Amino acid sequence: RAKDSGKNCFFVYTPDMQEDVKHRLMIQNDLVKALEEEQLVLYYQPKIYLKSNKVSGCEVLIRWQHPKEGFLTPAAFIPYAEESKLIIQLDYYVLRKSFETLKNWQSKGVSNTSLSVNLSGRHFTNFNIVKVIKEHLATYKIEPELLEIEITEAVLIEDPEVAQEVVSAIKKLRVRLSLDDFGTGYSSLNYLRTLPIDCIKLDHSFIQRIDISQQDRRLIKGIISLGKQLQIELVAEGVETESQLEILRALNCDYVQGYYFLKPVPETEFVEWLKRSEPFDPAQSA
Ligand code: C2E
Ligand code: MG
Ligand code: MG
Ligand code: MG
Repeated sequence: RAKDSGKNCFFVYTPDMQEDVKHRLMIQNDLVKALEEEQLVLYYQPKIYLKSNKVSGCEVLIRWQHPKEGFLTPAAFIPYAEESKLIIQLDYYVLRKSFETLKNWQSKGVSNTSLSVNLSGRHFTNFNIVKVIKEHLATYKIEPELLEIEITEAVLIEDPEVAQEVVSAIKKLRVRLSLDDFGTGYSSLNYLRTLPIDCIKLDHSFIQRIDISQQDRRLIKGIISLGKQLQIELVAEGVETESQLEILRALNCDYVQGYYFLKPVPETEFVEWLKRSEPFDPAQSA
């Protein structure tokens, strides 16, 4: 099938393959080239700390300026990258670029803004990711607390014991850890017991209806108080309206992220927005 590591990475296809299979192989082939030619672009979305109304950091979200297909969001290629080991190279690329950004922001005085980087569950079968993060921290001379790694429940699927050790080794570097898409998987509560998580990111499907559904509001309230009990911070993802924001504020949610504040944007735009909106006034963002 495919050779998915090393320089001569390629995927073979034949004329009788189905369209979707061809499409997948095309994307996978193109992705190899995209990584070499730096067609992948980092986008940034702010995360706001509600107690101070200040931007505490941002999430890094990958985009692809594909030479033929145009501008692609992760849904169009991350699943194919996940199928192959290309996701590993992709995440390493994003991680390295994120360190470059942090370094760059230090010299520009944007230095208190942390970066959250998403990592595929595929990294958590061995300790290579720990080594890479450690090396980058040293090379770029970045305070570890300025980096946050977002993991999902998929990390523990393959080998839970190894994954737990890898996650713990990352935490030992003093990098922050957050559990992404919380509530959408099967065993979220178990993760809170076994992983050294600083922060939970509540999936946007839970936020969508909090202004119209009392049941959803109660659920969020419960999760927030669970977080407080465990001393785990909570980020609400996908905040799109003022009424959602005000409900989350009333419920003592720690952080919010969503289109209401800013959609993910390229670096220059993000830094400009940051300068304009500091200290952040939620009333002026809509
Ligand atoms: P995620 O980590 O849960 O990221 C949040 C997603 O919600 C992003 O989608 C973001 O653009 C979107 N979003 C933000 N605010 C709102 C809002 O107010 N409303 C709605 N409806 N959506 C909002 P995006 O950028 O398309 O990324 C999708 C997923 O792709 C991410 O979900 C993450 O799992 C994955 N991903 C993105 N970049 C990377 C990466 O560098 N590496 C890996 N392994 N995965 C990545
Ligand atoms: Mg994320
Ligand atoms: Mg995610
Ligand atoms: Mg998420």
